[in-house]
Amino acid sequence: MENCIFCKIAAKQIPTKAIYEDDDLIAFHDINPAAPVHFLIVPKQHIPTLADCTEAHAALLGKMALLAPRLAQEQGCGYQQDGQGEASGGYKTIFNVGPDGGQEVYHLHMHVIGGPRPWRGQR
Ligand code: AMP
Ligand code: ZN
Repeated sequence: MENCIFCKIAAKQIPTKAIYEDDDLIAFHDINPAAPVHFLIVPKQHIPTLADCTEAHAALLGKMALLAPRLAQEQGCGYQQDGQGEASGGYKTIFNVGPDGGQEVYHLHMHVIGGPRPWRGQR
């Protein structure tokens, strides 16, 4: 897809320090982080929005969702419970969809936003 910034990142036309990459997905830090940890999980395939996904994308979406906790753990904002059941850490996973959803880049991506509060961002 021409002039799509995330296609260009996936195709290495724009240099980016990926925190994860496989045949289907790439993940990298958001350029304008809303919290101490803020990264994006992006399919390499150009799909404009979550609303464009179909059953054919179920495995891809599942893969994105399952990658979030793993990368969050690696990035230092994993969710955990101690022996007493006390919870700590954690993050939000967000798909912005369309203008009212605040979507700016029309190439599917999941935000993973976390780390110790308070956060700068309003997300
Ligand atoms: P959204 O509003 O859900 O479309 O979010 C797009 C996100 O992409 C924003 O949080 C931007 O800060 C982020 N972003 C845009 N360009 C880049 C880039 N070159 N590298 C990393 N993050 C980017
Ligand atoms: Zn794209």
